[in-house]
Formats: sequence, C-alpha cells, structure tokens
Amino acid sequence: MTNIEFTIPSVLTKGSGEKKIPLDAIDLQDAFTKVTEQLGEDFKQQFDFENGEAEGQQLDKEKHEAIGLCPICQKGQVYDLAKAYACENAVASPKTCTFRISKMILQRDIPKEQVLKLIHEGKTDLLPKFISKKGRAFAASLKLDNGKIGFEFAPRAPKKKKTPAPKIAAAA
Ligand SMILES: [Zn+2]
Repeated sequence: MTNIEFTIPSVLTKGSGEKKIPLDAIDLQDAFTKVTEQLGEDFKQQFDFENGEAEGQQLDKEKHEAIGLCPICQKGQVYDLAKAYACENAVASPKTCTFRISKMILQRDIPKEQVLKLIHEGKTDLLPKFISKKGRAFAASLKLDNGKIGFEFAPRAPKKKKTPAPKIAAAA
C-alpha cells in the first residue's frame, strides 16, 4: 500500500474547487477504483463523454446512419454522426435524451462495434489505452448505469505471471 493524495483539479469539478482525496492504493487501478468510490457519481460525470461541443454532432438523417434503438429513452435511434454517436433525441431541440458518446474519449477512438455492444448489452468490452489527463494509460469499459454512460474500471488486475523480476531492476 502506498499513501497518496489524489487531486482532482478545479477545472474538472465544475466550480467546486480543487478536491484532494487521500487514499491508500497498491497501484493506479486501485487508486482509480477508490477515488471513484469516494466521489461516486460526481466523479464519473466529470469525464467528458460528450465532448462538450455541438460541432460534428448535427444530425442529418439523409447522411447519417442509424445504428440501433437508444438504450436510454428507448424511442430514438442512435445515429453515427461525424464526431459522436448520439440518440436523435439527444441532438434534437428540445433535447429529451442524454445518449451521446464522443467518438474520441480520452484520446481513444471508440469503435462502432463497441457502441453497438453498449446499446445492446449495456456495456462495452474492456477497452485499453484511455489516456488520463495526466497522460497515463488505463483500461475501462463504458457502461450504461441508470441512464448515464460511465466508466467501469477493470477488476483488480490479476497479479502478473510470476516470472522472476529481472536482476538488474532488483539491484537498483
Ligand atoms: Zn435516446
């Protein structure tokens, strides 16, 4: 266990200031899990699934392909837009649904087959190589939870296969 302090910068807390969360963690994944538990829904929502901008998210039914029924409102079709997958009701005005996923989340492409999986099964495969704001890679699934899209972090990583550590590293 390592004692660390996890800092959520104020830019991510929507005006509630910088948050410092002291915790004990064995590795980055463990730290994420604990921070997620501590901050709960608040924290999950700080992730930018929607990519904020409306740019690349206009729906043209002639041009964009419907890929399935929206799992949130169960009424609209999810469309493959230029920069996002979104329920037609989430890009309509007035907006009556929230299903919208950027095609690029934390520097990672979100492939269409994974969005289909999210629509049909409520969850994507474990996707590697999300890059956190601090530049660290992590793996997570995208998951529908109470009508919202969130990260589900990988279960505690199984201990690496017991190949002996290289002697050089041990000598350092
Ligand atoms: Zn919808």
